[in-house]
Amino acid sequence: MPEADIADEIAEMDIAVDPGDAHAYELARMRHSCAHVMAEAVQELFPEAKFGIGPAIEHGFYYDFELPRSLTPDDLIEIEARMRANQERAEPFRREVVSREEALSIFAGNQYKIELIQGLPADEIITTYQQGHFLDLCRGPHVATTAEVGPFKLQSIAGAYWRGDEQRPMLQRIYGTAWPTQAELDDYLERLEEAQRRDHRRLGRDLDLFSVNEEIGPGLILWHPKGAMVRYLVEQFEQEEQLARGYDLVYTPHIASEKIYKTSGHLETYRENMYSPMSIEEVDYYLKPMNCPAHIMIYKSNVRSYRDLPIRLAELGTVYRYERSGTLHGMLRVRGFTQDDAHIFCTPDQVVDEARGVIDLAIHMAAIFGYDFKTYLATRPEKAIGEDAVWERAMDDLRRAMESRGLSYTIDEGGGAFYGPKIDIKWVDALGREWTGPTIQVDFNLPERFDVNYIADDGERHRVAMIHRTLLGSMERFVGGLVEHYAGAFPVWLAPVQVALIPITDDQIPFSREVERTLASAGLRVELNDQRDRMQAKIRHAQLQKIPYMLVIGKREAAANTVAVRLRTGRDLGAMPVDQFLAMVHPRVVSHSLYLDDVDEAEAIGSRDG
Ligand SMILES: [Zn+2]
Ligand SMILES: [Zn+2]
Repeated sequence: MPEADIADEIAEMDIAVDPGDAHAYELARMRHSCAHVMAEAVQELFPEAKFGIGPAIEHGFYYDFELPRSLTPDDLIEIEARMRANQERAEPFRREVVSREEALSIFAGNQYKIELIQGLPADEIITTYQQGHFLDLCRGPHVATTAEVGPFKLQSIAGAYWRGDEQRPMLQRIYGTAWPTQAELDDYLERLEEAQRRDHRRLGRDLDLFSVNEEIGPGLILWHPKGAMVRYLVEQFEQEEQLARGYDLVYTPHIASEKIYKTSGHLETYRENMYSPMSIEEVDYYLKPMNCPAHIMIYKSNVRSYRDLPIRLAELGTVYRYERSGTLHGMLRVRGFTQDDAHIFCTPDQVVDEARGVIDLAIHMAAIFGYDFKTYLATRPEKAIGEDAVWERAMDDLRRAMESRGLSYTIDEGGGAFYGPKIDIKWVDALGREWTGPTIQVDFNLPERFDVNYIADDGERHRVAMIHRTLLGSMERFVGGLVEHYAGAFPVWLAPVQVALIPITDDQIPFSREVERTLASAGLRVELNDQRDRMQAKIRHAQLQKIPYMLVIGKREAAANTVAVRLRTGRDLGAMPVDQFLAMVHPRVVSHSLYLDDVDEAEAIGSRDG
């Protein structure tokens, strides 16, 4: 959930949406009004409550309260009931302009509102809104009466520091959602439930993929064998693609001396994201927050001629960056992570081709993992280095690269880094959510700072063009995202266990072991369930583990040298010889197919196109 921040404060006083977007504006106005209706109900329950802020947010609203005791889930039910009663009374929202002195006296008992009033500019027109007995400092606007507040639901209780500041009091926050119609509310709650069902933290535990251990430290991921297998397969796939596309693999250390971060400028501009140094023989060393400086040093270890270019250095580079503990989130927001990083050093004339090469690989990756994607071009921000002509040329190169691949893109005006423009590709997952994907970042800064050159055909030293590039971003976030995208049901090539062998009784265990050996020697990851459970329990277990194929082996199958094949979707393919099963599965593994069999594939494509 979002933390209270400056934007929220603004939102409380004035709804933070583009007033030109009429629908979003009306929605935010209604949701903010719902926050007032909730505050009114809370005031009825706790007359001594003190009110913080209560903005509209994406999909809903919240309000922060100081209360005499902790809220319970039962309180939410009671508050909702009182809100409905307030809605039925159709209480009008009454706006009043007050002087600064009046405002300070009205809210005299509430240090939070006093602080907000004192923070307002001198020429600000201060207004209050009242509905029923609830009076709030508020810039509005609001709907006409409480009856115009749409169907709502209170969702959760959270602790929230006043103004998001850990030094200030902790308030209680209630989150809610409100929609124009019941159908929209139901639909939203359903989508939310689906997102929770797919939550990678929950599936990560259920499928035994990863954990975070307080004794190891927050934001540091422990990859369990099954999660590590998924990561290994993703990495192996990507490394092979890179090797086939002319990349060189490199490895660089996890720590580096302060010298390099002085040259790179990281100590100047990035220090708050870096951990404290450790001293080694009186030199300060830092955990690396980025791989770029080390790759530059590899490039610079030799004189490079234009004939050597482009040089593409790729590393699965583990970096460490400070994130506040409140912002850590499963595998998606962590303190140590491994980037699929690469740096391309080329001549200025090669930038278009190199960007195109990365785009091609990105498109291929999207298809393999089953993502749609959206493309953005981030342009020059206000504060930037590099001359206009250099920026224009680089942006033109990136545009040409995208257009040559028929990509349509959105301009992210001023969204580039100070040192160059970039292409951002966002994966769009099965729920339509956007995830950070490939980035292609042109850099005018580091080649200058490190004096990175090549010898051109004129025999002179020229400045190299440098591109930072990731495709998956970080292995942590990418695999976490994959878990949610697939709802834990990985395609067969990525499934940690691909086949569950289910003997019906102990008598079939010897034959099951033979099948296990055959499949394993064909390269499949097989789990033989020789527990004393009933067959139905074994099938259920395999289904919960989302194992793609279940081979049930009874007396009949063992006698006929066959296996009864079931998909995790529940579909039964009947008995077949082991060879036939292998002939069905093996090509799907090799081709990184997203589907378990022909019918599965036809259905998926049918539902996508229909
Ligand atoms: Zn308000
Ligand atoms: Zn870099």
